[in-house]
Amino acid sequence: GEPVCECNPCYGGPHCSVFLPECVADADSGDPMFLEPFWVKHAARSTIVVPGWHRMSYEFNDGSLVSKELDAQIRRLHAAVGNAVTDGRFIVFGGGATQLLHAAVHALSATNHPLSPSRVVASTPYYPVYREQTEFFNSQDYKFEGDTSLYNNGRFSLGNFVELVTSPNNPDGKLKKAVLQGPSVKTIHDLAYYWPHYTPVPAPADEDLMIFTLSKLTGHGGSRFGWAIIKDEAVYQRMLTYMTLSTYGVPRETQLRVLKLLKVAIENEGKEMFNFGYQTMRNRWTKLSKTMSKSKRFSIQELEPQRCSFSQKLRKPTPAFAWLKCEREEDKDCNAVLNSNNITGRDGSLFGAESRYVRLSLVKSEDDFDLLLRRMGMLVSRENDDS
Ligand code: PMP
Repeated sequence: GEPVCECNPCYGGPHCSVFLPECVADADSGDPMFLEPFWVKHAARSTIVVPGWHRMSYEFNDGSLVSKELDAQIRRLHAAVGNAVTDGRFIVFGGGATQLLHAAVHALSATNHPLSPSRVVASTPYYPVYREQTEFFNSQDYKFEGDTSLYNNGRFSLGNFVELVTSPNNPDGKLKKAVLQGPSVKTIHDLAYYWPHYTPVPAPADEDLMIFTLSKLTGHGGSRFGWAIIKDEAVYQRMLTYMTLSTYGVPRETQLRVLKLLKVAIENEGKEMFNFGYQTMRNRWTKLSKTMSKSKRFSIQELEPQRCSFSQKLRKPTPAFAWLKCEREEDKDCNAVLNSNNITGRDGSLFGAESRYVRLSLVKSEDDFDLLLRRMGMLVSRENDDS
């Protein structure tokens, strides 16, 4: 008989050809499944096989917890892309950027000031995990203190600060610089999206502590792998202690798979993967911008084209997310407006902004994006019928 295929959740009928009108466009999560077709194309070359007796020991043969080959591969990758300086820097591996973010906050906080914990800050709108994680771990050494704009110009600036800088920013895709300055300020640069898929890369980043993640680079969020590039040896040691005591390192299976993936990713100087990533994201942003340009009720962020040192070209914006604003006075709860039109995004209030804003993910599968575009198109055309 014929193979039985499951329909995409939005289609039904005998040949999965009937669009189900109630189907919801889910643009909430930032799961970068848009890269899946690249890995399908390179299936054979990106496969690893691990027999049961392989890699059983806690440690590599030299007693360490990190693969020297993977460390070297990561440095080669940054050199090929030109997005970060790694010469003379220390690298720490972690279970995704998520684990490294906390390790970094721990490593930079002032442990000898029990009565004045370090103040962890970020510029609004910021990635919600910064606040959620810092509050969850509830340490004596640091407290989440909200928006950096409360503390610049030297106002209320007593004490030690840890500033989280996300560039390009999640949710709005803007390239960002640290806001606070001075000897009592430490910075963590979360560069999860500083890759040619999502932004022009103007120059290699050369910051004290930079965090990258496999999830946004190759799309393998489930491998749970990230790395931090660190200038200062004492900070590096503190992050290593954190890793040793919390998990005793990143699984060796993960390190093996990441090595294989990165080898494929940087074939031909990375041209194929980054072209695929850029073209896919470019296409999506062009289509969404065209739809949104017909709307007065909704707007999305504006981003400038910039020269990209990787492609040696002027590059138009290709953000991972749309930062949608509901312009009408009465649409204070923008996600509720979208929800009643079968679209789900992430409420702006989670990012420290107003609920008049919603983040829409543009990095999911092609089907997910097509449905989002279709739903937004329907919503915008109805607005024009009203007027
Ligand atoms: N930082 C930013 C800015 C992110 O958007 C994400 C993922 N959404 C992370 C960190 C966490 O990444 P990971 O999957 O590596 O834990």
